Amino acid sequence: MFALRSKALAKSTHTVARWASTAAEKDSYKVVVIGAGTGGLNVANQIYNRFKSAGKALNAGDIAIVDAAEYHYYQNSTAHRTLVGSGLKQKEEMRRPMSDLIPSHLAHIVENVKTFEPKSNSVTTTSGRKIGYESLVVAAGIQVNWSAIPGLEKALADPSSGVSSIYSYNTADKTWKDIDALRSGKAIFTQPAGVIKCAGAPQKIMWMAWDRYQRTGRGDNISIDFYTGMPTMFSVKKYSDALNKMREERGVGAQFVRNLTSIDAAAHKATFKTADGSVDVDYTLLHVTPPMGPLETLKSSPLADEAGWVAVDQATLRHTNPEYGNVWALGDCSSLPTSKTAAAITAQAPILTENLFSVVDTGKVTKAAYDGYTSCPLLTGYNQLMLAEFKYGLEPKESFASFFGDQAVPRLPYYLLKKDLFPYVYWNYMVKGTWFGASGWTRPDFS
Ligand SMILES: Cc1cc2nc3c(=O)[nH]c(=O)nc-3n(C[C@H](O)[C@H](O)[C@H](O)COP(=O)(O)OP(=O)(O)OC[C@H]3O[C@@H](n4cnc5c(N)ncnc54)[C@H](O)[C@@H]3O)c2cc1C
Repeated sequence: MFALRSKALAKSTHTVARWASTAAEKDSYKVVVIGAGTGGLNVANQIYNRFKSAGKALNAGDIAIVDAAEYHYYQNSTAHRTLVGSGLKQKEEMRRPMSDLIPSHLAHIVENVKTFEPKSNSVTTTSGRKIGYESLVVAAGIQVNWSAIPGLEKALADPSSGVSSIYSYNTADKTWKDIDALRSGKAIFTQPAGVIKCAGAPQKIMWMAWDRYQRTGRGDNISIDFYTGMPTMFSVKKYSDALNKMREERGVGAQFVRNLTSIDAAAHKATFKTADGSVDVDYTLLHVTPPMGPLETLKSSPLADEAGWVAVDQATLRHTNPEYGNVWALGDCSSLPTSKTAAAITAQAPILTENLFSVVDTGKVTKAAYDGYTSCPLLTGYNQLMLAEFKYGLEPKESFASFFGDQAVPRLPYYLLKKDLFPYVYWNYMVKGTWFGASGWTRPDFS
C-alpha cells in the first residue's frame, strides 16, 4: 500500500477510501493525466466520455489523474479572485475538495509527479512510485514565483502593509479589505513583464478599485497608477486601444515597461526596473501581480521546450517530438502561443480529446485543430465588462458581438456572463467534461 503522506489527505477518510478502491496497486494506466485543475479535470472526463461514445468504453480506473492538491481552485473562467478582490464573492466559494470533483470511474493518485520519463512511458511521483501509461496528458499549470520579488512575501503576510494580490487564495480577500479601507493616497497596481495567466487580471482589479472610489466619493483623494512591464495596456490592439482611451478618460496613470523588482514594506516603497535603470515609487496601496513561469518539474524534463513549457504542436496539442507521440498537453503548462486562460482550455480540451482518441484508435490525428482561441473578460467596473476574445496572431474572434454589440465596449450583459453564468457552467459542466466552449453542451464534430 502506498504511504499516505499529506496531513490533509490523512484527515479526509472519504478521499482515502475512494482512492484506495480505484487506484491502489496499479502500475500502469491507459491514460494518465497530470494535474486536476481546470484543464486536467475537464480533459480526463472528456477522454473517458469520448471512448464511451465510440462504443470503446474504458474500464473504471483505466484513466488516472495524478495531483496531490487537496482543493481544486476556481481561479478560473470568471476570474473569481478578482470578484473576491472586488468584494463581490466570498473566497470560500472559489475552491472545492478535489475528492468531491473526481468521479469514481477515474483513479485519483494523490501525489505529485517529480520526474517525467517519456522514453519508458512513465512518470515518477515524489514518493518514488513509478506510474506507466499508454497516453500521457500534462495539465500541471504554471508556477507563480512569489519569491522572485524580495520583500513581497513578507509584505503579503503583514495585514497592515497595504500590499496584496488576487493571485493568491490567501490574499484575495486582503485585496478587498485594503481597497475598501483606503481613504486617500496612492494606489498602485502592477503587472510583470513576461507570461502570466490571464494577462487582463492585473488591471481588472484596478478598474474595480477605481469604480469603487468614484461611487464612494473618494476619487479625488486617491490617485491610481498602472505600472506594467509590458509596452501596452493589452496584447491585442483593438482592446488595448479601448483600454488606453478609457484609462485617459478616467484619469488613471500608466507607466509602461516598468517591472517590479522589490518592495520595502516598512518604507512603503516599491522599486521598478526601467529601460535604463530603476525607479523607487511610494505607495499607500500596492496590488502585485507576481512573475510566473514554467514549473521546475517540467522545465527540467525531456518534455520541455527551451523556455520550459511542454512542447506541443499548436494545432493538434500532441508533443512535437515524434518519439513522444503519446504525450499531450493543454492549459497553462503548454507551449501553445496564446494567452493562458480557462477559456482557452474550453477550446483546447475537445481538440486534444479527439486527437488522442484517434491516435489510440487509428494511429493518426484528425482534422481537429486548435486556432489559439482564448478570452479575457476585462472587468472595467461594477456592472460593466469588456469581453476580449481572440486567437493566434492576436486577432479578435468575438462570439457575442452580434447579440450584445462591440465587445471592446464595456457592457452589462458581458459582466453578468462573467459574474453569474460562467461560474455556474464551470462547476456544473466544465469540470465534468460536458462543456465544449463555443459548442456549448454538444461535443464538436470534427469529421
Ligand atoms: C486572478 C486570476 C484571474 C483569472 N481570470 C481568468 C478569466 O477571467 N478567464 C479565464 O478564462 N481564465 C482566467 N484565469 C486563468 C485560469 O484560471 C488558468 O489559465 C487556468 O486555471 C489554467 O488551468 P490549468 O489546468 O492549466 O492549470 P491549473 O488550474 O492551475 O491546474 C494545475 C493543477 O496541476 C497540479 N499540479 C501542479 N504540479 C503538479 C505535479 N508536479 N504533479 C501533479 N499535479 C501537479 C496543481 O495542483 C493543479 O491542481 C485567471 C487566473 C487568475 C489567477
